[in-house]
Amino acid sequence: MESILVLTHADETGSALNNASLEAVTAGLELASRLNAQLAIGIVAADATALSKCLPSEGARLLAVSGEAFAQARYATDAAACEALCRAVQPTIVLAPASSRFTRVAASVAHRLGGFIDTHISSIGGTDRVEATRWFYRQRVEAAISRDARPWFLLLDAGTYAAFAGATGTAQVEQVPVELPALRTMVSGFRAPTQGAQTIRPDAKMLFVAGAGWTKKQPDGQVHATEAGELIVGFLAATGASLGSSKSLVDQGGEGNSVLPFLTHLNQIGQTGSTPRHAKGLSTCCHGEEPHVVGWRFIGDRRAISLDPNCGWTRGKADVVYVADAFEVIAKVNALLGAAKA
Ligand SMILES: Cc1cc2nc3c(=O)[nH]c(=O)nc-3n(C[C@H](O)[C@H](O)[C@H](O)COP(=O)(O)OP(=O)(O)OC[C@H]3O[C@@H](n4cnc5c(N)ncnc54)[C@H](O)[C@@H]3O)c2cc1C
Repeated sequence: MESILVLTHADETGSALNNASLEAVTAGLELASRLNAQLAIGIVAADATALSKCLPSEGARLLAVSGEAFAQARYATDAAACEALCRAVQPTIVLAPASSRFTRVAASVAHRLGGFIDTHISSIGGTDRVEATRWFYRQRVEAAISRDARPWFLLLDAGTYAAFAGATGTAQVEQVPVELPALRTMVSGFRAPTQGAQTIRPDAKMLFVAGAGWTKKQPDGQVHATEAGELIVGFLAATGASLGSSKSLVDQGGEGNSVLPFLTHLNQIGQTGSTPRHAKGLSTCCHGEEPHVVGWRFIGDRRAISLDPNCGWTRGKADVVYVADAFEVIAKVNALLGAAKA
């Protein structure tokens, strides 16, 4: 019989569990109920008892590793905490979110436990035999993996399960002691881009894609790259959307053409770019060619603004296409958003 442990950790504020951890909890609850297996949830945080209030009040044993040493992400302390939780539960299957914190330590913890690990898991199925799926070759090939070896660690990609939102709050938490190794790394703080500078936001509800049209000659025969940049940044600031781009637009920087300064190849969506997961997507000034649109595989509601009524989006690749000038539409939308905020 399988026994499942879900590993979770605090978010950057320390006062809540991070979203990807809550998604792993949903995966754990679903799997435990399907297999009729025992479920435990382990928390790594400075004050794990407070965070247990976000976890199921029944159906799972709650364990925690608490203390100031676990307030910050650090390889030595996170690996020791996860190892201690695993040794306390002796699970056959360990589910962990693919957060930067756990991605860094999960393989090492699996090794310490004599187990195996698979990463980038997008779903877990099976009733008699656990079967995990993941994508290969830029989301063209989906593999279903099963293993006899235990313990089996599965690192879950963010956005593949809904965050746990059931009844919470009353379960007792068992504190698990951890013997820490000598710590050579001191975490002195975070240095992160400000919200305005950070344009890739995996947790955002919406993806906003900028295509090459933003920096092309417009009907007046002129390029309006500065205005384009201001409109896009204004939209991102007002909505909190994540910024994606077409390949043509990010390539322009290398070709010495006008380019939006906040875009890099990391923003590129598509066959040779990324395949993000957002509930909604809005494409602007982009033609919607297949190598770009394959990156929209996991975007739910798709909309596009294009001047071209025969662009790829109108050929079944978007739910709604506005055949319109994106400069005008986004300026109007930004004004409405500004007025709504005021
Ligand atoms: C092997 C390979 C891999 C590739 N991988 C990728 C990839 O990963 N990602 C990717 O994006 N592409 C990729 N491409 C390139 C892809 O085929 C397209 O060339 C690219 O997506 C086109 O970008 P675009 O639509 O922004 O630009 P364009 O094709 O230049 O289209 C610009 C669009 O903007 C519209 N427009 C202009 N002004 C306005 C305005 N004011 N309002 C509204 N609309 C306006 C125009 O009508 C036009 O439709 C790949 C190609 C190959 C061969």
